[in-house]
Formats: sequence, structure tokens, C-alpha cells
Amino acid sequence: MKLSTALLSVSDKTGIVEFAQALSQRGIKLLSTGGTAALLKQAGLTVTEVAEHTGSPEILDGRVKTLHPKIHGGLLGRRDDDIHLNTMKEHNIDPIDLLVVNLYPFRETIAKPGCNFADAIENIDIGGPAMLRAAAKNHGTEAGGVTVVIDPSDYDQVLQEIDANGQTSYALRLKLASKVYAHTASYDGAITNYLTSLADAAPAQETEPARKQWPSVLTVQVQQHQALRYGENPHQSAAFYIDPNAPEGLLGRYRQLQGKELSYNNIADSDAAWECVRTFEAPACVIVKHANPCGVAVAESAIAAYQKAFKTDPTSAFGGIIAFNRQVDLATAQAVSEQFMEVLLAPSYTAEALELLAAKKNVRVLELAIGNGKNDFDIKRVGGGWLVQDPDAFELDTSTLKVVTKKQPTEQQMQDLLFAWNVAKFVKSNAIVFCADGMTMGVGAGQMSRIDSARIASIKAENAGLSLKNSAAASDAFFPFRDGLDVIVAAGANCIIQPGGSIRDDEVIAAADEQGIAMVFTGTRHFRH
Ligand code: 5GP
Repeated sequence: MKLSTALLSVSDKTGIVEFAQALSQRGIKLLSTGGTAALLKQAGLTVTEVAEHTGSPEILDGRVKTLHPKIHGGLLGRRDDDIHLNTMKEHNIDPIDLLVVNLYPFRETIAKPGCNFADAIENIDIGGPAMLRAAAKNHGTEAGGVTVVIDPSDYDQVLQEIDANGQTSYALRLKLASKVYAHTASYDGAITNYLTSLADAAPAQETEPARKQWPSVLTVQVQQHQALRYGENPHQSAAFYIDPNAPEGLLGRYRQLQGKELSYNNIADSDAAWECVRTFEAPACVIVKHANPCGVAVAESAIAAYQKAFKTDPTSAFGGIIAFNRQVDLATAQAVSEQFMEVLLAPSYTAEALELLAAKKNVRVLELAIGNGKNDFDIKRVGGGWLVQDPDAFELDTSTLKVVTKKQPTEQQMQDLLFAWNVAKFVKSNAIVFCADGMTMGVGAGQMSRIDSARIASIKAENAGLSLKNSAAASDAFFPFRDGLDVIVAAGANCIIQPGGSIRDDEVIAAADEQGIAMVFTGTRHFRH
């Protein structure tokens, strides 16, 4: 069945002119709504306005444009059913073979500061979802059906199939139809959340971030999922849902160049390593084991950063995930190959490096652009519900740092403190991180008491043969008592960075002064659970 008529009605007009031109060149008749039609006509295309096609003008400020039997009949009539075809003829309804629609930008509208209720309501698209759902329902059979395109990034594939076969394949129509229902479900989820939030919106306190309309977690648009062999343990089945709209730089955009299939734990740990390494400007290396960094360093080159990071905790680095924010060259590939690793991540690899890594067949090698994309929200399942929050993307403004001790940190100390602070953000709480010269010297993670994290960090440094004398230490949250600080100073640190904010800050500051060290408050804590 050759495609003969297309209806185009889009709010996001990206690529629509080019796509319409291509359709028109292939002899496909174009129908379109007001704004879209005007744009296409401007580009010199022959377009029939829907209003002219149906004989009904657009009315009620565009609330009714395409809600007409000639449109919905054209989309919904079964192509292989004589009764449907006869009814369509009888009512003068032409089939519409291709529908290109994207919806009023509801989410974008409500996200704008100062968006009022009337704006939000006017941006609830009615005719768009109705047409999308109709076309998707009628995606048909192998013999033919309606093709529905909601995403400009699918325009090319549709054209390629039309060029190859004069029509689209069933597989493509099915994929595009399921994309539509995911989209309309998530669109309605956003509307539901907005309306619900109006009912229970409470005035936010000054110190709290504004309350948000979260996307409905049940209707988040995920199309691709990758089945995994198992979850955290072999008796748990698992999958990786990839966000098709993930911005560049996030793990979901990875390309696997070689190695075994990624496991659930590999993905979780790779994410931890990647999120940490991409925060550094200088060449950096992060080694992660069980979701915590066990070595982080910056240096003049990737290989030097790896050598430093590895020194932090060679025992734990065994079987780790190694991430770089720079290209991996031959020398770096050689260096990492000397240890057992599960996954290697980097923005790129030289050909020689890849050749060398190929000999290590099991190592999963991932390529991933650094990018500065962020997740729009974090989600965590708890019994009977979901916890949703902004990602911890707070970037420290160094001009707001407060030195609270008599001793001022030197420039070198300040650099080490900021490095330690950056690493501590990626260590599970309670986190204590000792650093010196752009490398971690001891990492204490995930303890129920800050003082234990401090002890563990110093034991680990000792085990690795590292001296903490004159090191810098970071604590991811304030010290509730002076005891944690005393352990850190006894281990050798001569400067500390922490958020401050404890009711016993005075006692902790007095302890730092008594010990003769410098202490800096950031004002922001970074719990990570
Ligand atoms: P245009 O810019 O072409 O005037 O409008 C395109 C937008 O109108 C698309 O986002 C489409 O989903 C939406 N739309 C199409 N038909 C109708 C309708 O009958 N009612 C409403 N409210 N929106 C429609």
C-alpha cells in the first residue's frame, strides 16, 4: 500500500519543513493545521489546510482544529476491511496514511517561572493526542496501516523505508505506535501531577527548594530496556531501562566496544565512577568498587592519574571499574591491563589501545562522551512507594567558602581540600576522605558513624603504605562532636573541609584551633545513600 496522504500538525517544528519537502517530492499529499501549514507554505510547499479539507474552520482559539470525522475516520478506518472502506467512501473520507504530530509543550510551559493556571490549561493538547492515539491504534498489519511519527529524530528512518519499499514496514509502524502510547501516557502523567500539585501545594519555606511537579514515575518515557543476566545477586532477574532522551554525558548513552555483557552491578558501579570522573577538569582517573571510589586522582596525563589512583588502595582496586575523563592511549591501556578490572570507561581510545585491550576479551570497554548532561531526577524504590528527588548536582561556588579557624589554609591546602570535597560527594555516607597532591590517600565510606569512617580511612591509608601526615580531609556532613575531627587530626591531616551547621560548631571550631589546623565550611552537605 503506497503512502499517499500525510497530516502534519506539530508544535515542535524542528525539521518539519525538510521532512514535508521530502514527502512532497515523493508525491505524498500534505494536509496541515494553521501554524504548521503557514510555515510549510512559506517554504513554497503545496499544502491543504485541515479546515479546508474538512470544511470546518479551526474554532475556540484552536481548541478544535482536527476533531472531525474526516480526520479521525481517515486515521481509524481499517485498510483491509471492505465495510470500513465503503463507509469511508460513503462519507467522503480520504485515508490518511502518515500522521506527524507532536504536542503542545505542556511540561515546558509549566516549568517556566511565572506560568499561570490559564497558560497551563491552554497547553493541554486535545486534538493532538486524539489523532496520535487513533493513528497508533491503526498501525495495522503486515499488509499496511497508518504510520505515526511523534519524534523528529524518526523522520529519516521513515523516509528511508518509503524510498526502499514505497511504504513503511510493519516493524517500524509497531515501534512508532508504541512510542506514541508511551508519550501520551507520560504527557497525561505530567498533567495529572500538575493538577494534583495545585490541590496540595503548600507555601515553601525560604530555605527549601521550590516544590516541583515531578513526572509521574509510572509513566516516565522509557522505550529501550536491556535485559540483564541477573540483578545484584544471581537469584534476582533484572533489566536496565535506558532513557531514550538522556542528555549527552550520562551512562545510558554508552557504547560498548568490547567485552562481556554488562551486569547489573557493573552498570551501577560504572555510573558511580563516571559521574565522579567527569566532574574533573584536569586528566583524572576514578577506580570504583561496590559503588564507592577506592582511588581517585588528577595528574598531567591519564596514565599518571591512574598510577596515583591505584596507589590509594591497590587491594580494593582488584576487579574494579576504572573511569577516565581523557582518551586512553596505549601506555594507559597497558598500565590498566596489569590489574584485573571489570569495566573500563573513557571518552575515547586510540586504535593501539583498543588493539591491546582486545587481548583481554572479558574486559568491558565503554566509550562515552563527557558532556555536562544531568538526569532530570533521581528515583529510588522503597516498600510501597518511590522516592524522587533532584540529582545532587550542586556546584560549589568557591567564593562562598568560609575559613572558620585562626589558621588560614595555604593555596596548596585549599586545592587539596577542594579535591577531597569533590571526591567525598561520590562516597557513600558517612564519608571521610583524606587527600594530598591531587590523589586520595584514604577513603572511609558507608559507616553509621563519622568517627568510624575516619578510623577506617586512616587504617586503609596505613595498609596501602601511605602517610597521612599533612594531608587534607573532607567530611560529607558536619561533625556532631569534636571526636571525629580529633581522629582525623591524629591521623595526620592539617586541614579539613566540611559543611558546618552543627549546633556544636563552636566546640568543633575550638578543637580545630586547639589542634592548630585550618578548617573551611562549605555550607552544603552531600549525603549519599
Ligand atoms: P499549529 O501550529 O499547526 O497551528 O498547531 C499544531 C499543534 O496543534 C500540534 O501540537 C497539535 O498536537 C495540536 N492540535 C492539532 N489538532 C488539535 C485540536 O483539535 N485541538 C487542540 N487543542 N490541539 C490540536
